[in-house]
Amino acid sequence: MTSSTIRPASDYPPGGDAFRHRHLTGIAQLTPWEISYILDAAEEWVELNRSGAAKHDDRLAGLTIINAFFENSTRTLLSFEIAGKRLGADVVNMHAAQSSVKKGETLIDTAMTLNAMRADAIVIRHASSGAVQLIADKVDCPVLNAGDGRHEHPTQALLDALTIRRRLGRVEGLTIAICGDVLHSRVARSNILALTLLGNEVRVVAPATLTPPAMERMHVATFTDMDEGLKDADVVMMLRLQNERMDGAYLPSAREYHTLYGLTPQRLEKAKPDAIVMHPGPMNRGVEIDSSIADDPARSTITEQVEMGVAVRMACLDILTRRQRGVPGWN
Ligand code: ASP
Repeated sequence: MTSSTIRPASDYPPGGDAFRHRHLTGIAQLTPWEISYILDAAEEWVELNRSGAAKHDDRLAGLTIINAFFENSTRTLLSFEIAGKRLGADVVNMHAAQSSVKKGETLIDTAMTLNAMRADAIVIRHASSGAVQLIADKVDCPVLNAGDGRHEHPTQALLDALTIRRRLGRVEGLTIAICGDVLHSRVARSNILALTLLGNEVRVVAPATLTPPAMERMHVATFTDMDEGLKDADVVMMLRLQNERMDGAYLPSAREYHTLYGLTPQRLEKAKPDAIVMHPGPMNRGVEIDSSIADDPARSTITEQVEMGVAVRMACLDILTRRQRGVPGWN
């Protein structure tokens, strides 16, 4: 897809026709202009958040949002919570460690329980790929995927696209290198889908053992050599080694991994002189990324990504609850 096929934001149909989905389970369900629609909606929240005015927006007042997190999280959980509260919703967090899941309850039974509580939206993170869709099929309210196994993490890809668009002025026609443990990364998968859909050239740079099969079917070029993969890139996206999803040894050692695949200042010189460096967090400093790059505000977008996360999640919660709130055009 080329950038010229992307529909301009001014062409959006009104209300519900601009975004017809009940849930946000993955980027795979979205069109390029649905992505742009969410990014444009988020843009307004960025400005309001900075001015402090968002605290006075109560459009989700009276709604209850449940954050059901069956896997650890810092950024995603907090930013969904802040997003809901900034819009006036009542936000309840459920952590798996304290829930009946630990007592052997099945996912479907947990879903039925959440449904019976009449939540107005449920945000779910789960270690199993596909678990979020399973719950979405069982409940009456909108479900937002906050990361399911290695499958998708759609709001991360949306906040990454917004960060790129704000830093580089566009998110089309760019060369984007996604580097590291792509095999186990839902962030990589959602980003590959979003960034190719928006008309960028996406490369995967990883050891052969951490490169998913059939990347060419996703219109992605693969590199095992970091210097080659970074050549003339506009965006370098670094990923953590997802040790919790590895069964067996994929790498000789973290030290060797850093030598071959760690982002150092010398390596970054292969990319364009004004290339930006992204990381979804949590970072392992000295493994996939050197501190001197992570902490360089001229190159690193890491804190901006966190900021964009709140705005994107506000946009998603607003858009997905419009139907229930009876917003005209969203029936
Ligand atoms: N926070 C991201 C995720 O939940 C990336 C990571 O954990 O490495 O997938």
